[in-house]
Amino acid sequence: MDASHFRSLGLTDIVGKLDAGERLDLSDGVRLFECPDLHAVGWLANREREKRHRGVTYYNFNLRLEATNVCVASCLFCSFARLRPGDADAYTLSLEQVLDKLRKRASQPLTEVHVVNGLHPDLPFDYYLDLLRGLKGIRPDVHLKCFTAVELAFFADTYGMTDEAVLRALMAAGLDSLPGGGAEIFAERVRRKICHDKADADRYLAIHRLAHGLGMRSNVTMLYGHIETMEERVDHMMRARALQDETGGFQAFIPLAFHPDNNQMRKLPAPSASDTLRVHAVARLMLDNIPHIKAFWIATGVEVAQIALWYGANDLDGTVQEERIYHMAGSRTPETLSTADIERLIVTAGRQPVERDTLYRPVRLAARA
Ligand code: SF4
Repeated sequence: MDASHFRSLGLTDIVGKLDAGERLDLSDGVRLFECPDLHAVGWLANREREKRHRGVTYYNFNLRLEATNVCVASCLFCSFARLRPGDADAYTLSLEQVLDKLRKRASQPLTEVHVVNGLHPDLPFDYYLDLLRGLKGIRPDVHLKCFTAVELAFFADTYGMTDEAVLRALMAAGLDSLPGGGAEIFAERVRRKICHDKADADRYLAIHRLAHGLGMRSNVTMLYGHIETMEERVDHMMRARALQDETGGFQAFIPLAFHPDNNQMRKLPAPSASDTLRVHAVARLMLDNIPHIKAFWIATGVEVAQIALWYGANDLDGTVQEERIYHMAGSRTPETLSTADIERLIVTAGRQPVERDTLYRPVRLAARA
């Protein structure tokens, strides 16, 4: 795309900043969301992606587990949570049931187990400690990426501990890093409406700051496509960027598409494919200090995730294997993809697949043979 095209779109100053390696601000981000030419925004995002990663696209061999969907919070967008243990579809797995899920896959070349749960009012803290110890006992080599900042805040409040004491205890039991869930949209206006009774943005960011200070890495998400404004999306990205300036601990930014089935926001439409592509592209352009933008294929849909690899994304998440949160909200993707499926998706999109571990180190398949 040439300079005259960006001039006709009124983006010359933004292109100039990107050329000079300068940071974009709030109004730049909003203008990128409002620009009528999605492909021009995508072209700029792809240029930044290729500067950092060329065509490389990461994925991992992971297993996702959700031990309970009993949750005391009432997030309007959530189709997964059940308030009480006896509610229809409520479930809480025993420790042995959770561990069995890994035991039966113990021979797989897994590199990561990812655990997130509802905020269960009655489980003791030992349940989570024993869960981590048990998973490590079965596969000591597997990286445990477990518990959102919202869950960690809930543990601290429920068990009368500080956030730091919770993190230290879980790390001693085997926790390796934090997933990015629970961020939703940081803006207080939105949180008051869609998730008023769980940890707020400051607490979410404070827990990630603490985790980074203790030597852990984490990710950060953004739930988009519901009641948030474009300013609130960009503000969200900038709050993540500001913490990253302080700590450098975020590995990936993960846009999560709102899914409207079976929740209290079901009257809203799901975000369109073009909105999804644009969110990934703007994230790549705003987040100059977070290395990876992930197109989580379960949230975007497989086909859109493939296209997102040309709109700023350089990671597809992984094999997943079990997923309830998005499928209870209407996701029509499969629950699992094999590594061969993922590699084919990446190659047919014209990109180069690289299997990574949770810390983005390439996994050498030969080492496993
Ligand atoms: S999003 Fe998480 S915290 Fe909110 S209701 Fe669902 S499970 Fe509970």
